[in-house]
Amino acid sequence: MKKEFKVQRSTFNVRSSQLRLKSSKSAAGNFQKGASFYLLFTVYCLLFAALLSCSPKKESIYKKTKVEMDTVVTITVVSDSEEKAAKAIDKAFGEIGRLDLLLNFFSDKSELAMINRSAGAPPVRVSPETLEVIGKALCASEKTGGAFDATIGAESSLWDFFQKKKPDDETIRQRRGLVNYRWITLAKGESAAGLEKKGMLMDLGAIAKGYAADKAVEELKKNGVRAGLVAVAGDIRAFGLKPDGKPWKVGIRNPRQQGKDDEILATIALKDMAISTSGDYERYFLLDGKRYHHILDPKTGYPAEGCRSVTVMAPDAASTDSFSTAAFVLGPQKGIEVLERMGFEGIIVDNSGKVRLTPGLKDRIEFKRND
Ligand code: ADP
Ligand code: MG
Repeated sequence: MKKEFKVQRSTFNVRSSQLRLKSSKSAAGNFQKGASFYLLFTVYCLLFAALLSCSPKKESIYKKTKVEMDTVVTITVVSDSEEKAAKAIDKAFGEIGRLDLLLNFFSDKSELAMINRSAGAPPVRVSPETLEVIGKALCASEKTGGAFDATIGAESSLWDFFQKKKPDDETIRQRRGLVNYRWITLAKGESAAGLEKKGMLMDLGAIAKGYAADKAVEELKKNGVRAGLVAVAGDIRAFGLKPDGKPWKVGIRNPRQQGKDDEILATIALKDMAISTSGDYERYFLLDGKRYHHILDPKTGYPAEGCRSVTVMAPDAASTDSFSTAAFVLGPQKGIEVLERMGFEGIIVDNSGKVRLTPGLKDRIEFKRND
C-alpha cells in the first residue's frame, strides 16, 4: 500500500558531508595562529552546526490517483515526509469530494440540483463555494459574449454521448430559448442563487473541475505543502517547483491520435500556473460521417465547430477550464483573440489540424515529433 503511494524519489540533498570537510580543514589552519583564531574557530563551528540542523530534509514526489467528480483525479505533492504527504493529499481529495456534492449536475442531492429544481421560483440559499463558482461562470460569460454559458444545461441534458443519441432538431430549437446566462440571479447578500425561467438548467461542467483543482491546491498549501500538481482530468493546477528545482511539465494531447496510447503534441513547463484542455475527442460520437461532441454553442444548441482542441494557461484553473470551453465555441480566430485580451496563453488546433498559438507561448512550448 505504502509502496504504491510513493511513486518517485527525487534528489534534493544538501551536500553536508562535503561542507563539513572543507570547513574543518580551514579552521584547523587558523587555530595554530593564536587565541583569537581559536575564538573565531568556535564561532565558525557553532555557525556550521546551526547550518546543519537547519538543512532541509530530502524531498520526494508523492502522488495518488482516485475517481472523483466522475473523472480521474491525480494529486502530486513534494514533501520531506510520506506521512505528511499522504495526510495533505487526503485532505485535498476530501475538498474535491465536498465540492462535487455541491456542484454535481447529475445528483439530485447537490446544491446545483436544488437551484435547477427551483428554476422560475425565487433564488435558493447556497454555500459560499457554489456562489463563488457561479460568479466566476458569469464572469466568463460576460468576457466571452456568452460563448461560455452555464445555462447550457437545457441543451446539454439532451445529448447522450454514451448511447450515441442525437436529439431531434425541433427539441434542440425549442430549448434554445432556455439558454441565457443573463437569467441567472446571484443574490450575494442573501447567499442565494436562482434561474429566472422555468425549465432552465444550470450545468457547471465546464468550470467545476477547474474550480475544484484550485480549491484542492489551497487545501494542500494549508497543510504545509510547498509544491504540487492537482489534475482533475484535463484541468490542472501546478504550484512551486519539483525537488530538482525544475518546473512541472504537462503534455498536450494530439486531438486526432491514431494509436491507443496518448500521443503528445507538445509539452509546456508550468510554475504557479493552471492549464486546461477542451477537446472534441473527450465525449463524442460519429453519425453519418459527422462528429458530435460535448462542447455546445449556446446560440445553436449543437456542438461547436471550428476547433479540435483548445488549451489555455492562466494563473487559476477555474479560468483555464471555462475559457478553454469558451474559446472552443468562439473558434480559432476569435478564440485566440479573447485569450490574448484576457492576458492568458493558449494553443488551438483548428478543424483542419492547423495549430495556432498566442504570441506569449511561442518560446515556452516544446513540440514533439510523433514519427
Ligand atoms: P470536459 O468536461 O471534457 O473537461 P469542458 O471543460 O469543455 O470539457 O466542459 C464541457 C462540458 O461543459 C459539457 O459536457 C457540458 O456539460 C458543459 N458545456 C458544454 N458547452 C458549454 C458552453 N458553451 N458553456 C458552458 N458549459 C458548456
Ligand atoms: Mg472547460
